[in-house]
Amino acid sequence: MTKFSDLGLAEILLRALVQEGYETPTPIQAQAIPALMEGRDLLGIAQTGTGKTAAFALPILNRFIADRRRPAPHSARALVLAPTRELAAQIADSFRAYGQFMRPSVGVIFGGVSHRPQVEMLSRGLEVLVATPGRLLDHLASGKLRLDMTEVVVLDEADHMLDLGFLQPIKQIVSRLPKKRQNLFFSATMPKEISGLAQGMLDNPARVEVTPVATTAERIEQHVYLVDGGAKRDILVELFADPNLARSIVFTRTKRGADRVAQHLEKAGVEAAAIHGDKSQNQRERALDGFRRGKTRVLVATDIAARGIDVDGVSHVVNFELPETPEAYVHRIGRTARAGAAGRAISLCDNGERDLLKAIEKLTRQSLPFTDRRLYADAHVERPVPGRRPAGAPPRSNSGGPRSAGAASKGGAGRGGAGRGQAPKSGAAAGRNMHGKSRPGR
Ligand code: AMP
Repeated sequence: MTKFSDLGLAEILLRALVQEGYETPTPIQAQAIPALMEGRDLLGIAQTGTGKTAAFALPILNRFIADRRRPAPHSARALVLAPTRELAAQIADSFRAYGQFMRPSVGVIFGGVSHRPQVEMLSRGLEVLVATPGRLLDHLASGKLRLDMTEVVVLDEADHMLDLGFLQPIKQIVSRLPKKRQNLFFSATMPKEISGLAQGMLDNPARVEVTPVATTAERIEQHVYLVDGGAKRDILVELFADPNLARSIVFTRTKRGADRVAQHLEKAGVEAAAIHGDKSQNQRERALDGFRRGKTRVLVATDIAARGIDVDGVSHVVNFELPETPEAYVHRIGRTARAGAAGRAISLCDNGERDLLKAIEKLTRQSLPFTDRRLYADAHVERPVPGRRPAGAPPRSNSGGPRSAGAASKGGAGRGGAGRGQAPKSGAAAGRNMHGKSRPGR
């Protein structure tokens, strides 16, 4: 497998990656970085969550290490265009993180805030400028920014930009760039309009496409337990009474959560180790080694820590908490379906996580079978996978749903009404309690 150290990146970038807890390049990084280091243009078909930011940021920073010229006033050596202020800010943060030992000058520009600090920042010149198109055009029009010395341009989430009506602004911006430049173009989808724009910008690009996330999810057998938040740890222990959960990764959202869950499992007699960014390299390696050798049955991990873990034969992924983004769910469960193997994934979802569950079902275009384990739920519903009774399922379970024949439930009739065989697409699907608290918009 490719290592970061195989990619020809400068040592101070490799050091920053260790600091960030990145162990191995993601597929898009392994494929894109070498082409970009050669100075080629790139067409990247990839969504957020694939590691595409590092795929473009690292070669750009590497270029500046090799040639540390001061940027001219009012100019930017690299320009990254992003559709939203949130994404622009995130990208700038990534550049700062990967460049933490070289301290590049990185600036962000977006609308809705005062012009003046942006103008001052631009007057000094920047190595990396991340911007949304509208405000960038303002600065170009007022002469506060020039792009004729820009060496690299990145268009991120091109499809999203077009949805937001940025086609003309992008064309105007591109027309101000010098002819000789490196172009990077990223989009999750490639409808005609986008490929037209890409063709106009790119010169013999390397093409990198990472598998759309939905296809991974289809290979994995998934089950959801609707639970009361406070009951998660006990239900988790119950799940591990099933010896089929052999080599499992349990995901938590926070580092402290990972520690607590690992301790709880250990107390219950399930060998577990936590792995996350606060652990020393040594501790992480020891935990991973125990897990690989089968001494530790459960690895409890945060998303970031799990990215670099490459362990074959993971039987189950358990989401102790659902992730904040649906893409992360797909990455998590993908840990169990390595090298074409079929995997199993179990998620514990409390009322506060219902919106996250909905987002996952939307992204993966699947209705997930579920079992209702909530104490005070109006409806007790189960849609088990045929032939396999999920561990810890309540005795009074009903069956139904797309995976089993005869979706009609028996004992549940009259409690939740029609539609309970469906995945919990809406709160109505399984009664009042399922509305739950919803998370603020993400
Ligand atoms: P992106 O698709 O660029 O938004 O990245 C998604 C997430 O993955 C971010 O939180 C990154 O910090 C993280 N990430 C990117 N590359 C790696 C890697 N090679 N190892 C671990 N985490 C990574």
